[in-house]
Amino acid sequence: MLASAELADSRILVVDDKEDNLAMLETILRDAGFVHIDLARNSDELFAQLGQGRPDLILLDIQLPKHDGFEICEQLQASLDHAEIPVIFITAMHKDAKSIVRAFASGGVDFLTRPFLPEELIARVQIQLRVERHWRQLEELTRIDPLTGLLNRRAMSEQVETERRRALRTSSTYALLLADIDHFKPVNDNNGHHCGDAVLSACARLLKERVRRSEQVCRWGGEEFLLLLPDTNAAGAAVLANALRSAVEDSTFTCDNDRTLRVTLSFGIMADSGECSVEECISKADAALYAAKHAGRNCCITHADAVGR
Ligand code: GH3
Ligand code: MG
Ligand code: MG
Repeated sequence: MLASAELADSRILVVDDKEDNLAMLETILRDAGFVHIDLARNSDELFAQLGQGRPDLILLDIQLPKHDGFEICEQLQASLDHAEIPVIFITAMHKDAKSIVRAFASGGVDFLTRPFLPEELIARVQIQLRVERHWRQLEELTRIDPLTGLLNRRAMSEQVETERRRALRTSSTYALLLADIDHFKPVNDNNGHHCGDAVLSACARLLKERVRRSEQVCRWGGEEFLLLLPDTNAAGAAVLANALRSAVEDSTFTCDNDRTLRVTLSFGIMADSGECSVEECISKADAALYAAKHAGRNCCITHADAVGR
């Protein structure tokens, strides 16, 4: 039985203390077309493998030295990064009701007893990989803004909260830039909503291309973007904000093939060491943005300067 082509690049981690079992499972998976197969002989090797990257599925033996499969599965469930990885138990243990219940209670998604037919293993592996893939696609949809492909407000709020806690823990400072397109309503009114959409997407791309990998950009609202800059103080954030502002000012955006449009951005900037709540920080960035609009637009203002005015 061959795995369907779209699943063949999935990563599968096989955990068993017996070399014969590992070799047999690896052969069945390879014969079915799976190419990314990792092997572990005990819990230490398993967690070392997880450190190298996230598998899409784990095939887990129950009888293992030190920690058994149930304990390992409970550990995975308790970890933020690994709780979602599906685990299929594979065992030579007698299939009694108690162990089946324990397998599911510890977080397993399926249970297979030796001896089994290779076809049955592959069928069970495939269904779990398919469910896992759909689940991840759905999760992605809840995090991404469909027009711009940027993170949405919900996903960004989580990222900012994570960064706030990190800043507090590591005594560092992070910054937020809240950017809003100036006079965007006339762009829509004069050129049509589809041109407005094209400008929004192009602006999003431009911002995304110009920030570092560690920095996040989201679509915060209609024509507003929020940027999260870890390990950055207000002065550093102002340098980036000005560079982005000027890049947008110098850009021309096209729509309907020949129509050329230009827009500018106003920025509100704030930096914090993690003591203020996310809501307070956003509201400070918003106040600074309001000041930038008031100051004539196409400019960047930090919160400290805005309240000092
Ligand atoms: P200001 O400089 O004060 O920000 O002026 P503005 O015109 O940009 O602000 P206003 O809040 O009056 O208008 C925002 C406009 O953004 C109106 C709204 O239709 C438009 N907008 C919001 N979301 C979208 C979108 O997804 N697509 C398009 N095309 N327009 C959008
Ligand atoms: Mg605007
Ligand atoms: Mg706005």
